Amino acid sequence: MNTALNPRIENIRQTLQKHYGPLNWWPGDSPDEIAIGAILTQNTAWSNAEKAIARIKTAGLLSFPAILSANPSDLAETIRPSGYFNQKAKKLKAFAKMVCQNGNETIFQRLSGKTRDEARILLLNVWGIGMETADAILLYAIGYRIFVVDDYTKRIFSRHGILSPDTEYETVRKMVEMSIPANTPTYNAFHAALVHLGKDFCHRKVPDCSHCPLASTENLFRQRGNSDER
Ligand code: SF4
Repeated sequence: MNTALNPRIENIRQTLQKHYGPLNWWPGDSPDEIAIGAILTQNTAWSNAEKAIARIKTAGLLSFPAILSANPSDLAETIRPSGYFNQKAKKLKAFAKMVCQNGNETIFQRLSGKTRDEARILLLNVWGIGMETADAILLYAIGYRIFVVDDYTKRIFSRHGILSPDTEYETVRKMVEMSIPANTPTYNAFHAALVHLGKDFCHRKVPDCSHCPLASTENLFRQRGNSDER
């Protein structure tokens, strides 16, 4: 299967851009709130992360120095709606320790002056931060030019025969980055549109192809009994 530049990806991007228009992702009033949200939404719906963020705000913990000094069990209780709250409290603590390492107080200050790859390595070295979370923070909180791959990306592209469902994260990321215009707003809008498409039409078990905006522009290569199980 070809995992280099693929013109069909740009075709999909343009179709989704026309369908959805500006989506103004990611929700959050500051880079710190976006970074905290990216950790809280791991393995859960965004609506649950939102509830946890609201409780963090009420508790006065929406800053990394505050998270660093918070009582661990109080922090876990505060973010309970996000699920896996004990683990996520540890992740927030580890992330806050990295942010505040040099007396910095915000993620923007901590990453200031770093190249994208330097910043990415720093984030990936934090316990509990994988590539999807790191790249979401880099793209949406700071504005680095990097594409975020998630389950929706893989599901949609694999159902269209562009990649296999088990393609590695980095392979997908580089393939998309090679295939669409290389700028931050485009990466931002395309990832957001794929998430909306996944939620609106390309459901995990039964995709709603008859109403999907991609059905009319893309030939379907969906493999029944394979991608449907994901
Ligand atoms: S719903 Fe159907 S047409 Fe739309 S992205 Fe999924 S597989 Fe493709």
